[in-house]
Amino acid sequence: MAERGKNALRILHDAGHEAYLVGGCVRDMLLRDMAGGSAGREGTEDIDVTTSAAPEEVKLAFSGMRIIDTGIRHGTVTVMFPEDDRLLPVEITTYRTEQGYADGRHPDSVAFTRSLEEDLKRRDFTMNAIAMDENGEIVDPFGGREDVCDGVIRAVGDPDVRFSEDGLRIMRAMRFAAVLGFDIEENTEQAMLRNRRMLERISAERVFAEFKKLVAGRYAGDVVRRYTEVLGAVFPELLAMKGFEQHNEYHRYDVLEHCVRAMEAVRTTPENNTYMRMAALFHDVGKPLTYSQEDCGRGHFYGHASRGAEVMEKIMERMKADRWLTDRMVSLVRHHDLIFEKDERLLKRWMRRFTPEGLSEILEIKLADNIATGNMSEELGDKFREIREMIEDILRQEDCFSLKDLAVDGKDVMAAGVSRGPEVGRILDELLDDVIDGRVDNERKTLLAQIEKKRSL
Ligand code: ATP
Ligand code: MG
Repeated sequence: MAERGKNALRILHDAGHEAYLVGGCVRDMLLRDMAGGSAGREGTEDIDVTTSAAPEEVKLAFSGMRIIDTGIRHGTVTVMFPEDDRLLPVEITTYRTEQGYADGRHPDSVAFTRSLEEDLKRRDFTMNAIAMDENGEIVDPFGGREDVCDGVIRAVGDPDVRFSEDGLRIMRAMRFAAVLGFDIEENTEQAMLRNRRMLERISAERVFAEFKKLVAGRYAGDVVRRYTEVLGAVFPELLAMKGFEQHNEYHRYDVLEHCVRAMEAVRTTPENNTYMRMAALFHDVGKPLTYSQEDCGRGHFYGHASRGAEVMEKIMERMKADRWLTDRMVSLVRHHDLIFEKDERLLKRWMRRFTPEGLSEILEIKLADNIATGNMSEELGDKFREIREMIEDILRQEDCFSLKDLAVDGKDVMAAGVSRGPEVGRILDELLDDVIDGRVDNERKTLLAQIEKKRSL
C-alpha cells in the first residue's frame, strides 16, 4: 500500500473518524496480490480515501498540510503528501449517497452519510466498491474481491438503473475491460447495450477521456469487436465499418476487423501510444464512403484516405479534442497510404515535410495497415523495416533535413542584400532542397556563395 494512503488513513483514524482506501487503488492492489505482486501499476495510481468525516472535519484533521478543495461541495478534498521528494495527492471523500439522476449524468443531490455501506452502494462496479483499512482488512458487501479474482466487471445493483443514472458508466465498463482484460458480466453487458443511448447525454470531453484510455488498453481490440454496437452510440462511423466487405484480394477482413487488427499491430512509444492506436483504428474510416466495384466484382476505395481525413476532422471536432491531437489524427489518416520507397532523398524530403517523428508515425501506421490485411508478404515486411532503419540512420547521422539544421539562416540571406519578406524563405527552401538532394554541401561558405548566385537570378 502506498505510504501516503496509509498515512492518510492513520491521521483520520487518530482524529476519531472511520477511513478506508477505496476504488482503483484497492482493486489494483488485490490484482497485484493475485498475480504475485507483478501486475498492476504500482506507484502511478491515484489514491482515493473514503471517510465518515465531514469535509470540514477532514480539513481540520490535516491542518498544516497542503489541502485543495477539489470538489468540496461533493465532499472531496485533496491532501498533498510528501513522498519521494515530491508532493503527491490523496483524494479524500466523505461517505455519501446520491439521489435522482434526472439528466442521466449528475445526481440531483448528494447527501453525506455516516454509513460506509451506503457509500459503497453508489459506486459503479463491484470491483470498485471494496474498502480497505490500514491493516489491509477489507469491507466488501457486493462480492468485489471474487469478481476481481474471476476478472469480472459487474454493476453494483441493477445495471439498468445504474446506467440510466449515469451513462458514463457504460464507457467506464468498456474502458476497464480494455485495460484489465476482464469480462463484463452478462446482465451488465446486456444493460449496456439497452442503455447505450444514455451516452449521448454525457459531455463529449468525458466520453472521449474514457475512450482514449480504452483504446490504449491492451485488450482494446476485443472490446471494440464485442461492443461495436455500444460504441456506435458515440462513433457511428465504427458501425458503418462493421461488416463492410472489401472484395479485394489484398484483404481478408471487413473494414472494421482490418482496422482493429491494425490497432493491435501498430508499433508505438509510451508517448504516442494512445493516438497511434486511435489513428490505426480509424485509418480506413473513409472506406464505407468511397466504395466502388468493377464489373468483375473487384472492390475499390478511391480517395478513401483524404475522405477519411475529413471524417476524422469531424469526429475530433465532435469529441472537442484539442487542435494538436486533431491535426495529428487527421494527418495520420490522410497519409496512411503514402507510398514509401528505399530512397534516401525522398525520405529526407518527407522528414522535412512531416517532421522526422511524423514520418516515422506514418510509416508505423502503414506497416500496421499492411500486417492487418492478413496477407502481407515477407518482402514487404522487410522493406518497411529497412525504411525504418534508413530513417533512423538519417537521424543518427544528423543529416540536414530541416531549415533549422541549415548552416545559414534568414539573417545571412538578408545580409546578402535580400530584403525581409517571402523571398528570404523561398531562397532558404531552395538551399535546403539543394542540400537534401546532394547538389551542395551543408557548409556555411558554400551556402553563402549559393545565396549570392540565387540572389542575382
Ligand atoms: P482509475 O483511477 O484506475 O482510472 P478508478 O476506479 O479509481 O480507476 P476513478 O475515476 O478514480 O476510477 O474513481 C474512483 C472511484 O469512484 C471508482 O473506483 C468508483 O468507486 C467511483 N466512481 C467513479 N466514477 C463513477 C461513476 N461514474 N459512477 C459511480 N461510481 C464512480
Ligand atoms: Mg482512481
